[in-house]
Parts: sequence; C-alpha cells; structure tokens
Amino acid sequence: MTTANRFVIAGGGLAAAKLAEALRANDFDGTVHLISAEERLPYERPPLSKEVLLGKKTPEDATVDSAQWYRDHHIDVLLGTTVTGIDRATKTIALPDGTTLSYDKLALATGSRPRKLPIPGADAAGVYTLRTAQDTEALLEMFRTARTLVVIGAGWIGLEVTAAARNAGLEVTVLESLPTPLQTALGAEMGQVFADLHREHGVDLRVETKVAEITVADGRATGVRLADDTRIEADAVLVAIGARPNIEIAVDAGLATSEGVLVDESLATSDPDIVAVGDIADQQHPVLERRIRVEHWANALNQPEVAAATMLGRSAVYDRLPYFFTDQYDLGMEYTGYVANPQDAHVVVRGDLGKREFVAFWLDSGNRVLAGMNVNVWDVTDRIKELILGGEPVDPAALADTATPL
Ligand SMILES: Cc1cc2nc3c(=O)[nH]c(=O)nc-3n(C[C@H](O)[C@H](O)[C@H](O)COP(=O)(O)OP(=O)(O)OC[C@H]3O[C@@H](n4cnc5c(N)ncnc54)[C@H](O)[C@@H]3O)c2cc1C
Repeated sequence: MTTANRFVIAGGGLAAAKLAEALRANDFDGTVHLISAEERLPYERPPLSKEVLLGKKTPEDATVDSAQWYRDHHIDVLLGTTVTGIDRATKTIALPDGTTLSYDKLALATGSRPRKLPIPGADAAGVYTLRTAQDTEALLEMFRTARTLVVIGAGWIGLEVTAAARNAGLEVTVLESLPTPLQTALGAEMGQVFADLHREHGVDLRVETKVAEITVADGRATGVRLADDTRIEADAVLVAIGARPNIEIAVDAGLATSEGVLVDESLATSDPDIVAVGDIADQQHPVLERRIRVEHWANALNQPEVAAATMLGRSAVYDRLPYFFTDQYDLGMEYTGYVANPQDAHVVVRGDLGKREFVAFWLDSGNRVLAGMNVNVWDVTDRIKELILGGEPVDPAALADTATPL
C-alpha cells in the first residue's frame, strides 16, 4: 500500500476519467486533482464522428461522469487548464497562471491532437479537423450550409465523417495517398472492402493522390489542388490524416519517450512516480512481447484500472489485446488483436465478403491467428481472442469454412 496521498491526473479524456474512477473504487481516499485543457468534463470521443454527426446524440450524451459524480467522489476538477510542465525533482507540475501543484504520484493522460497538413491553405476558414466536441459542433454547422466536402485521408475518422456527411446530403470526395483506404491498419484486401462501401454510397474516392494545396479565396477554403494539378472545388475541407500524441511535457521533463511515453507492463514511466495511460502510452505489452501504442477507446477505458493499481503501489499488469470498432453506413465492425504489418499477413475470410457479413483473420507465416475483424457478425470477439491467445497454428481452410465451428 502507498502512503502517498496527493495524486494528480494531467489530461481530461476517457483515460483521465477512468483513472479517477479507479482510484476511488480502490479506496484511495487522498487528494485527486484532474486537470484538463478542455472546458468540458471528460467525454468519450467515438460518438463524435458517429451518432453525434448523425444527429442521434449530443456531445453531452458522451460525458463519462457527471459534475455531481466528481463532487461526490471529491475529485478536484480543473477545466480549461493546460499542465505546462513537470518538475520531477520537486514533484510539482506547472500551471499556466504561474502556480505549481505538488504530487506524490502523477498520471499523464494527455491523449492526442490531429496531425497538421504542411501545405498552403491548411489554416484557412472552412478547413476542419475532428478531435473534440467543439470540432463536432463546427462540423454539424458546416453540414447545414455546405453542399460539397473534400476529405483528406481515408482513415477511420475521415471515413466516419464521410459516412455522416453523405447521410447529411453532402457530395463528398475522399483523397487518399495509398492505394486503398485504411491500408496501414488493415492491409489492401480489407481496405478494399471500405473502398467499395463508400463508392456504393456515392463517394468519389480517389486513391494514390497527393494534395499539393488547399485553395483559398478571401481567407476561405475553396477546394484543393492535387500534385498533378487537378483541382477539386469544395465548400469545406476536412483534414483527417491521423493523430499526434501530446507528449511535450513528458519530453521536457526528461521521461523516456518514443512517439509516445515509454511505459512498462504496469504502465509506469521511466519515473516510478509517474504513470502514463491511453493514447500516449507506448507500452511493453506482456502478451505481444513488444512495445505498442494504441490510439483506441478500449485502451483508454481499460488501462486506468492497472495504472491506478500501480499508483497505489500494488502490482498489476495491462495485458489486454488491442480492440476497436467502427460504424459506417450499415457496416458495423469490431477488430481484435495486433498485426505489425498487415501486408505481410495472410488474410482468411470466413463468411460473405460481398454481403459484408464476415470475419477476417490475419495469420502469420506459421498459420497462427494474429487478429480478427468481424464485420456485421456479432458475439465472436471472445472466440477471436481465444484463437489469438491460444497461439496454436490453425487450418486456414477450416477457419474459412462457416460449417466448421469457430
Ligand atoms: C472523433 C473520434 C472518433 C473515434 N472513434 C473511435 C472508435 O470508433 N473506436 C475506437 O476504438 N477509438 C476511437 N477513437 C479514439 C479514442 O477516442 C481515443 O483513443 C481516446 O479518446 C484516447 O483517450 P485519452 O484519454 O488517452 O486521450 P484524449 O481523449 O485525447 O484526451 C486527452 C485530454 O487531455 C487534454 N490535455 C492534453 N494535454 C494536456 C495538458 N498538458 N494538460 C491538461 N490537459 C491536457 C486534452 O485536451 C484532452 O481533453 C476516436 C477518436 C476520435 C477523435
């Protein structure tokens, strides 16, 4: 058990909220400060590009815990406040007003921000990114007025916004630099499933394109110019080219970092009094036996339980397999596992690819299951997990045969 009684959580997303919950659920009765750069209480982001953009939910519906919950659990929440520095020698963090706050244990849960596109026009009015509830509100406003949208980047967020924009009646052109959407995450074969899906829904998907410039008139985006000089006019442009972890305060504090903050199996950083969770945590994963950094909801949901134990001086290890999901039009999907390079894996499809009702498996050269993706097929995640964790070679033909039980 720890004698430390002053815990600070820097960050205010799902991971931060779950960590506050986990500390209290584990009977920590010391001080907990949760300091968030955002003006809103921690909320979940997945609905922002799905139900909220489809008009089925509001950002408030995605709030993790109510203000009353934080009061009841004596969590001191400081919103609209960015932690600007960490002094590990004095065990204090710095706040923008020049004050400092001391900690016995510190958790970094600072998440990510959208990557910027280093081309002319990227800062013009009418150019959007999506990370926050405020960004979603701006997109909803744009959906009401714009007729045409160019989406730069066919990753998860680009494609989910595309589906929502089509639902709102916009003409959408999606520009992707690789040969298929989602290629880095899923490989070309499964990326093609998403290419077909969007084209069937009237999206002008252009692959292997390079955007040279966002064209601007009177300070407002008017479309894009491609490297081959093709021009595409649009009322609005969404830049969705991935996220960048917010690790500057960790770097400045001299913590070991990569693209994220390096943490061990129990989510401790190179400083034993500091843990890192969620998007920024580059963890030595005990099952996958390698470092992984996962920018997905389930990670932010589940890592805090282990981080809380570590802060409390108990032993715990985060060993869950990566898991994520998406919803686009009538396609619902869950993905479990980890494939370092999907292009090198062998994909086995079980079910009907044409009807988009199937499970895809990624196998290594020894026919061991690395990952599984169920598309419009449900309640198979546990079995996929078992196949991965079992680590035994499978018969690809039997795996593909829906008459053979999973
Ligand atoms: C639109 C959208 C849709 C998504 N959909 C899915 C999905 O369908 N499935 C899925 O698995 N994942 C999805 N994700 C990813 C998932 O939401 C993230 O992995 C998750 O939000 C990570 O949580 P986090 O708490 O680590 O970071 P974040 O949610 O990024 O929260 C970090 C918080 O810390 C604040 N902060 C940053 N720096 C500081 C500082 N120095 N001081 C104080 N506060 C700071 C930030 O402002 C932010 O509020 C989606 C993400 C987005 C943006």
